[in-house]
Order: sequence, then structure tokens, then C-alpha cells
Amino acid sequence: MCMTTQAETPATAQPSEQLSSREKHLAALFTAILTRGPISRRDASRMIGMSQAAVTKLVKPMIANGYVVEQEGYSEGPGRRLIPLAVQPRRHNAIGIKVTERELIGVIVDLHAEVHHSLRVPLAGTGPELVVAQAARLVHDLQLGAQGIGGSCVGVGVGLGGHVDGRAGVVRYSPLLGWHDVPAQQMLAEALDLPVLIENDVNTLAVSELWFGAGRDTSSFAVVTVGSGVGGAIVIDGELWHGASGAAGELGHNIVDPAGPLCHCGRRGCVETFAADDAILSAIAEGNDAVPQSLAEAAALAHGGDHRAREAFSQAGRALGLGLATLVNLLNPPMVILSGEGINASDLLMGALTEQLAASAFSSAAQDCQLVVRPLPDEAWARGAAATMLKHGVLASLMTLVDEVPD
Ligand SMILES: [Zn+2]
Repeated sequence: MCMTTQAETPATAQPSEQLSSREKHLAALFTAILTRGPISRRDASRMIGMSQAAVTKLVKPMIANGYVVEQEGYSEGPGRRLIPLAVQPRRHNAIGIKVTERELIGVIVDLHAEVHHSLRVPLAGTGPELVVAQAARLVHDLQLGAQGIGGSCVGVGVGLGGHVDGRAGVVRYSPLLGWHDVPAQQMLAEALDLPVLIENDVNTLAVSELWFGAGRDTSSFAVVTVGSGVGGAIVIDGELWHGASGAAGELGHNIVDPAGPLCHCGRRGCVETFAADDAILSAIAEGNDAVPQSLAEAAALAHGGDHRAREAFSQAGRALGLGLATLVNLLNPPMVILSGEGINASDLLMGALTEQLAASAFSSAAQDCQLVVRPLPDEAWARGAAATMLKHGVLASLMTLVDEVPD
């Protein structure tokens, strides 16, 4: 509940706010080399707005400690040779796991977030102890399957749908798993003896889009995913926005029709009650002889001209458009990335979505926002969880180098 008190308690600070300026510069430079490398000191200094001399000092301990390597130099006409800097992918590795209500999807990645091995395991049940035990076995099997990956493992990132309080390490509420206040981070860390990070699954996808995907060219954007649920994540100035307790970005539970269908969250008319897979299937099944069993079948019906199927997708598109209008009115983001397995039917959704968004957004907020449709494989979610662990673990270990930066 949003409480109003006379002396408002500040929300927990975002991690970057707790860093010294030198630590922030170290993190910014490493991120530039990781996401833009190979890159010369000159180009890196332009990119992050620091002098070339400062970049030269900051990069010294990164090279000395094996995080960054110098590649063969080149010249751009007369003048000094430029030496490209690149991250050493074998310096660290990380494991990422995406938890769905049906299965675990796991990957092990190097420091470039390149996947070296991936596995999928059907869940035997959704109880927390069972899921944690299966996740621990999956981590073991991923490490066995990628013994040549090199470097030390910074830990295991776990992404799952719902309200995840990553700072506390607690899954506050996951409707699809039926979890309330599960201390999943501690449970898995004890089973593994490795650092563990838990995060909302759309947030993990946003981190991998920020570092390695469509978000590389913009520091602020949102991700909205459509599938068995509707999720959202917000990135502002290069950092995930978690809000007070990790519930930020839950676009799927924006109410777009207070008299609408009952949502599993207990309220009525959330975006999800129109746009999630089951909502689309139910809308088609109402009074229709042809009852599709999957979204692919529903899309095939719509493509075949079934009026009710076409209307169900349009209704989903309108609900998403209304949800997105709230998002763009509040944040005015330059980009929203649309993903998730439901976006495979984007040709049936986007017309109604963009029309509703344009009709409902304030001033130029809809025109200002580039909608990017990004169909991604299931493994991308697990890779996102691994990238989130890398971001956290590698930047934390880089901070130990700050005293080695020459004055
Ligand atoms: Zn809801």
C-alpha cells in the first residue's frame, strides 16, 4: 500500500547512488568496453564523457587484473595509433535460470553473455523447496556441461514472473507459481554455496536488452512482454527502476476496465485479463465451435478469417494500447521493446494496439516513443538472468580495483 506520512521514509537507494564518483567512472568505462568493445580509449572517452587521460588511468587495473585486453593497434591517418580495448570473455562466467510454472530454462554464459551450454528441465511441481532443489541440480549440470568455459563463476541469476524484491531476496508474490513471501535467494544460495540474485524475469530481459540488445543505443526505455502473463520493466538512465519494493513496471495489472473480467490478482479488468494467452483463448472459445488450444492455433484461426478470433486479438491489442498509454504518459520513454511469446502474433495485435495508444496518450508521448517488436527465444530470458548476475557480480568485483587506479 502506498502510505502517506508526514516524514516520508525514502525508498532504498538505487545501487549506483551508493557508489563514489571514481567507482561510477570505473563501472561506466567497463560497461562501455563490454557493450561497445573493441573500442579505443579515445572513443570510450567520448562515449562516457571523460578525458582520455582519465580513461587511460581507469583502464590500467582492468588490464592488470585480466578483465580487459588490448588488441592490435590501427591508425586513422597520420597521428597516434589507436589500441582497441576488449573485455576478456573468459575472466568470469555466470549462470542464468528462468523459472516458469512448467519448467526451468538454464544457461551458462561467459563475460560477453555468450551462451556456452543450455538445458531445460520440466518442473515436478511448483512448491518452493522442490523448485529450489531442481534449480540447484540444474546449476550443477550446466557447470558440468561447460567445463571449458573458463574464469570464475560470479553466481546464479534467477528470473521469475511476479513481484520480486531483489534487494531483500524475496519473491513477494508470484501468481503463476502460487508463491507468497518466499526467501528464494537464501534458499538457493544455501543449496549451492554460490552468490544468488533473484529478479523479476522481465527486469532480467531488460538488463540484457540494455547491455546487449535493442536498448544499447538509448539509456532509458521500457520492456513489455506478452505471453502467459503481461509483464513490464523500466530502465531509466541506464539503471533498472525497481521502485520501493521491486513492484515497478507491472503493466499487466494496470486496470483498463474496472467492470472487466476477474484477474488472478483479485481485481477486475487488468490488462492481463484481455491480453494474456488464456484471456485470448477464452474470448475465442465463448460461443464458438472452434476452440483453439494454443496461441498458435488461435492465430491460425484469426489468419483464416475467424471473426471472433480476430476480435479477441484486437481486444488484446486495445488493452495493451491502454496500458502503454499510461506508461508513456508517466515516463515519456523514447523506446518500448515488445517481446514475449505472445508477440509472435504481433501482426494481429499491433494495429489495434497502436491505434489505441495514439488515441489515449497525452500530447506527443505516443509519437515520441519508438515501439520495437522483438520476438526472442525462451533462452533469452535465462540469458537475461545470467546477464543480470554478471552485471551485479562483475561490477562488484571491479569495485575492489578502485584503489589500484593511479592518481
Ligand atoms: Zn491483475
